[in-house]
Amino acid sequence: MVPQYDLEKIKFGVDEKTWERAAGIYEAGKITETEEGYFGFTARVLGTHSYDVAISEDSFNCGHCSCFVGQSGNVCKHMIALAIWAVLRGAPLKK
Ligand SMILES: [Zn+2]
Repeated sequence: MVPQYDLEKIKFGVDEKTWERAAGIYEAGKITETEEGYFGFTARVLGTHSYDVAISEDSFNCGHCSCFVGQSGNVCKHMIALAIWAVLRGAPLKK
């Protein structure tokens, strides 16, 4: 499954803070149990708590997350971190 977005689109599609935090999560290897499904990508993202995260393969604005921000219907750093993973699959992130 290939996401319909790339790093440039993600980076310029979210605010800088969200991007920086998401990049930090990705680089710290906190994205675990990644799976590909009909909807897109799912994972467990580790942090203060661990969060169940999903992101669409069509849009990094379309997903859900069990954190506070995600549950209120907004795009959170965990979703963006998973979107980065969907593009890079563990390869180093060049900023
Ligand atoms: Zn979240």
